[in-house]
Parts: sequence; structure tokens; C-alpha cells
Amino acid sequence: MSHTSSIIRRVSKQIMVGNVPVGGDAPITVQSMTNTLTTDVAATVAQIKRLEAVGADIVRVSVPTMNAAEAFREIKLQTNIPLIADIHFDYRIALKVAEYGVDCLRINPGNIGNEQRIRSVVDCARHNNIPIRIGVNGGSLEADIQEKYGEPTAQALVDSALRHVDILDRLNFEQFKVSVKASDALLAVESYQLLAKQIIQPLHLGITEAGGLRSGSVKSAVGMGMLLSQGIGDTLRVSLAADPVEEIKVGFDILKSLRIRSRGINFIACPTCSRQEFDVIATVNALEERLEDIITPVDVSIIGCVVNGPGEALISDIGITGGKTKSGFYEDGKRQKERFDNDNVIDQLEAKIRARVSRDDPSNIILKV
Ligand code: SF4
Repeated sequence: MSHTSSIIRRVSKQIMVGNVPVGGDAPITVQSMTNTLTTDVAATVAQIKRLEAVGADIVRVSVPTMNAAEAFREIKLQTNIPLIADIHFDYRIALKVAEYGVDCLRINPGNIGNEQRIRSVVDCARHNNIPIRIGVNGGSLEADIQEKYGEPTAQALVDSALRHVDILDRLNFEQFKVSVKASDALLAVESYQLLAKQIIQPLHLGITEAGGLRSGSVKSAVGMGMLLSQGIGDTLRVSLAADPVEEIKVGFDILKSLRIRSRGINFIACPTCSRQEFDVIATVNALEERLEDIITPVDVSIIGCVVNGPGEALISDIGITGGKTKSGFYEDGKRQKERFDNDNVIDQLEAKIRARVSRDDPSNIILKV
């Protein structure tokens, strides 16, 4: 309702990924990556649209072959959101997708091959105003760095990143962002902290291969939460072995928790106990699902009884506090005369939240997926 973040962001240079700014004072963006076969244009376009519908700012698509590059052309034509092409090694694919309107290249210049190939990709990016993301991953460090450090350490990840940064520096190319991901949250945190002091470009946060929906979300929230709370990070991707739509939702939940960027309903709910007067868990689950289309930020507290209900309701936009047969309803921190029947709380709350959202922000409803 009224809390704002007091986090001071690291100063960074802003780059543009299509029409989406990353870095500087731009909002921290949330991205995901498709997991369909890129050559299956229909499936990939459908997934990108689902990601866009839940709020993705940017989507990455892997482009491993020339056939995938041709598919990318079609995908780009059929979608509106900025697309990053994920490319490893083959510089010709980078040149191809640049021709097809890619918004950012995820490619490590040091892996492209000889100087001439590197130069052709960087010149093409410069000519077309396409930024590059350098993506270092603890699992795929260069052999000599592995040997020097023995295992992926923060310094090893940063050395690898700076090697690619140096190449772009030499070619006088500044439009890039960098990630130093590791599957170990603390290693990733240390790596980003080190890197943040060494470059001015935006940082793309991620805890790579974080795990399944629950464990990966927790790991990502801990790692990214530590960094974001220190002002580090300009865009993020939560990597989950799950539907990429979940990655976007979790990404926004992380930003919401830190009051960095609000989007949609922020639920406050009690864990429930035998004092609850209506079914809190069923209500929260149902409303989370029903209200996914809402992007206007609204704090909604759903509390099972008067022990904690009024206190939370008073600092929420909308609140309900369980009472005998009928529950107390609060709006803007004030108790309302109206009370809700305990056996119909879900419908009544949904109606109130929707009414409030369309009153405050009639344009907020986005596509249903
Ligand atoms: Fe139990 Fe009431 Fe606390 Fe909810 S608010 S956990 S119902 S005591």
C-alpha cells in the first residue's frame, strides 16, 4: 500500500533491447527463455505470447542451427516482444538473426573464433543497433581458467567475463550487458558482487539451473534477493525446470517482495490454524489463479481471524478478516460496513478487487492466456 523500496541501485549504463531499456534508471526487467523447439514456429510463438501475457519484458530463444535462424525470422514476424537470440559458437547464425531483426544477441565474443569473425559480428551488431549479452556460466568456463582456479570460483567467473568484455572494449563496442551465473547461489552472488565493481554495463542476474519450481524459486529468490537488495542487477531471469511462465511469475514475485517493482496482486495471507473462520488457503489459491490477468499493483490481505486480520487489513488496499459466519471487509485501510458470507468469500473478494482495479486503472486488464 505505501511501502517503497529504499534500495540504492548501482550506477550503470543503459542499453536498449528493442524498445525495452535495461540499466540506468530503467525498471528491472523480467525475462524468460522458450523451451520449445525453435524450428516449431507455431509452438514457440504460442509460448512467447503466453510469456508476454504474464508480463515478460523480454524473451530469449535459442538458435542452435541455420534452420532455427530461418524459424526465428518467422517467430520475429509473429511476435511483438523484444527477442534475444541465444547463440553459441556459430557467428553465421548471429549475422543471420541480425538480418531478421533480433533485439539482442547472447553470444560470447571469445567463443566465436578468429578475430575476423568476431569483428564481423560486432560490426553487424553496431550497424544494426543490437546489444550483446555476454553470458558466463560456472559450468562452462574456458579450459585454461578451469585449470588456473581448479574449480569455478567467483574470480574465475569474473575473469572469464572480463576476457569477453576486453574483446568488446578493444572493438569500441559498449552496448552490452553481462551475466556470471552459477547454480550455487552464494557463488553467483559473490561473482556478481565482484563484477559489479569492474564494469559500468548493466548486469543480467540469474542463478543458473536453479532446480524445480519450489527449490529453484527459493534458490533464485535468496541469491537474486541478496544482490537486488544491494542495488545490483538490471534484468533477471529465474531458471526453473518448469513451465517458463512460472519463471516470469517468480521473477515478479522476487521484485515485489523487495518493493522494487510491483505488478498485479500482492497477496498477504496467514498460514491458517484452527481459528480460521473461512478457508484461507482455498481462497488464496483460487484468487491467485482467477486474477492473473490483473497487472495493476494491489495489496490484498486474506486473514483467517481477528488475531492478525485487522492489523494486516489496515495496511492493505483490500483486506478480509475472518469472523463468525460473516467476515470483515476493509478497503484503503478502513473497516467497511459490508461483510462477506464465509461460504462465498472468493466470489465477493474477486468482484471487489476487479471493481477497484477498473476504477483506478481501466486499461490494466491484459490478455487472458
Ligand atoms: Fe490462525 Fe488467525 Fe493467525 Fe490465521 S490469523 S493463523 S487463523 S490465529
